[in-house]
Amino acid sequence: MSGAIGPGSEGMNLEHIKTCVRCSLRYDWRRSSSDSLKMTYCSHLCEAADLGFTLEALLHAQVPSSVEGETSEPETAAI
Ligand SMILES: [Zn+2]
Repeated sequence: MSGAIGPGSEGMNLEHIKTCVRCSLRYDWRRSSSDSLKMTYCSHLCEAADLGFTLEALLHAQVPSSVEGETSEPETAAI
């Protein structure tokens, strides 16, 4: 009785198997490379592709409170 257990013997637990909402790949969510939605997407690539961005990028993005030139009215004759 060596009791040797190969690596990964406990890696595939059906309780941890999720189906990627984008590519329908069945994956172990613990191994997903998606940082924020690893229980939804198999990888950060699917996360980014589906959302158009990653939550990580969103969280780190600096959203300006005002957009230059976009909201300002064109110059009109001052009265
Ligand atoms: Zn996927």
